[in-house]
Amino acid sequence: MPASTKQNVIILLGAPGSGKGTQAKKASKEFHVPHISTGDLFRENLKNKTDLGKNANTYIAAGKLVPDGLVLDMLFDRVSSDDCKNGYFLDGFPRTIPQAAKLEEHLKNNANPLVIHLECSDESVIKRISGRLSCQNCGAVYHRVFSCPKSEGICDSCGSFLIQRIDDREDIVKERLRVYNIQTKPLIEFYQNKQYFININGENSPDIVYGDLIKACKRLIWNRIS
Ligand code: AMP
Repeated sequence: MPASTKQNVIILLGAPGSGKGTQAKKASKEFHVPHISTGDLFRENLKNKTDLGKNANTYIAAGKLVPDGLVLDMLFDRVSSDDCKNGYFLDGFPRTIPQAAKLEEHLKNNANPLVIHLECSDESVIKRISGRLSCQNCGAVYHRVFSCPKSEGICDSCGSFLIQRIDDREDIVKERLRVYNIQTKPLIEFYQNKQYFININGENSPDIVYGDLIKACKRLIWNRIS
């Protein structure tokens, strides 16, 4: 079979704390394509004190979604980079039906899409996020109970201090979940009748979830080009 010239675009869908970031980071290394997280792009902008970062942060800190007008240009600019030409993992985008419609329009027939929904209960994600610690330098993620760093409060990868993201505080997490259920959950209906949609049980251990995810990527995407 001739090699496909289409981009392999894997969209990870799921509530905050369902494991999208952890899984996408690992899988993107395995398949040698970038992991693109809109949340990380905003945090990077905030760190660099750009207007976009400052604007977005007023929404992020309140647990709301950043308006589409600020998200879309940033995302489409990033995925137009040369390193995305063979494909990429999307983590945290799309989060609304209009964002999904724009993405479809952008991909047209030039992509092999795969949408993976990591299913998790509200109770599990609250437990996971409220114990989450993030490295303020490299973005590595730990958990106070399930995935402790070797030295308390210090990142294993780069030695910087770990912090709790402001939007990972329990009251803000509850708002993020409320927003997820209203604005992002309808995407499951938007995608679920497409051939390229699959559900994975995100309540399982990260290794089991990763195994399921890799299997789906190989079966539905990478096999097509080998
Ligand atoms: P995340 O790191 O994916 O949990 O994203 C952190 C925050 O960034 C979210 O709670 C939103 O405020 C904002 N954000 C990230 N991606 C999007 C998106 N696609 N649309 C709107 N807001 C977003």
